[in-house]
Parts: sequence; C-alpha cells; structure tokens
Amino acid sequence: MAGRLFVISGPAGVGKGTVVKRLIERRPDLALSVSATTRSPRPGEVDGVSYYFMTDPQFDDLIANGGFLEWANVHTHRYGTPRAQVEDKLRGNSLILEIDPQGAFSVRRAMPDAVLVFIAPPSMEELRRRLVGRGTEDAADIERRMSDAQTEMAVRDRYDEVVVNNEIEDTVDRILAIINEYENR
Ligand code: 5GP
Repeated sequence: MAGRLFVISGPAGVGKGTVVKRLIERRPDLALSVSATTRSPRPGEVDGVSYYFMTDPQFDDLIANGGFLEWANVHTHRYGTPRAQVEDKLRGNSLILEIDPQGAFSVRRAMPDAVLVFIAPPSMEELRRRLVGRGTEDAADIERRMSDAQTEMAVRDRYDEVVVNNEIEDTVDRILAIINEYENR
C-alpha cells in the first residue's frame, strides 16, 4: 500500500524535532525523510541520519541534476529534500518531511495529496524562551530566527492543519490522530 506524505513545519524552537522523534517512537512504521543541507553539523548530529551535510558545490550538483523534490534558503543556509528518497520511502509507508513553509508549498504543488501540518507556539514570548533555553544559537541567530518565525506564522492558515504545541504529548496525540484520519480517507 502506498503511504501518504505529511509535511510538518513550524518556527525554530517550537519543538518540531521532539515532536517528530516522539511520532516515530509511537508509530515506528512512519518513515522520516533525511534532508540535505549546507549548514555545519551541530554537536551530536550524524551525517546521513540528522541530515546529509553537503558543501555548496555538492548541493549545486544535486540541484542541476534535478535531485531535489524541493529546496529553499532557510536562515542563511540551503536545505533540500532528495527526490529519490521520497519516492522510495513512500512506496510502503507514510512519510514525514520536516521542512520550512517555502518547501511545504513547493511539495504541495508537486504532490497535491500531501498533508501540510503547522506546529505553532503558544505565543511568541514562549517561542523566544524555548529558543534561548535550548542554547544552540547565538544572540544574532536568535533574532534572525524570531524574525523568520513572524514570517512563518503569517502563512500558517494555508496549512491543512495547525496544532499549537502547549504540551508535547498532547501535540503528538493530536498529530497522530491527524495522520490516522488522512491515511483512512
Ligand atoms: P535546522 O537548521 O534548525 O535543523 O533547520 C532549520 C530549518 O530548515 C527548519 O525550519 C527546518 O524545517 C528547515 N528544513 C530542514 N530540512 C529542510 C528541507 O529539506 N527543505 C526545506 N525547505 N526546509 C528544510
């Protein structure tokens, strides 16, 4: 049975990473797309698992060869979804793409059946608290991500579903229910 494609977006710091990790723990049959990026690995990130870390020329080559389903500039680096991987993984399972809104709308154009889910913070103040709290960005990066977050929040109504991440387990429950609902349509 072919799976369905679910795209998850939300501003940096909203908790997407944790939500996606918990979704896969609760539904191990769900496949997760591994993106390519030109940004450097953060401590603990593993090439081929967290991302495919690429140089600019490698990324350019993949664009030139039509290797991306979509790609975008996000927070000063490039990120893209390798096309072949999506086709492979979707053959048997539903697949989750955790990508930014530009990427989400490109995927919707290419694959109109894709389900777009936006994870929103309870408030912008809470988003800033979470971003500062995770301690992975410097002050300038935090400001850039807060400003990008405003832009991202402005398009959330174009998503099929919006889930406010108050409490992780509630958010995971809600998204699992959404996944079930669309898989059974
Ligand atoms: P981070 O650098 O924090 O891992 O991710 C930064 C942003 O890039 C997040 O908003 C994430 O959703 C987005 N992103 C990750 N992979 C992709 C991708 O393949 N395509 C697009 N368009 N955005 C991506």
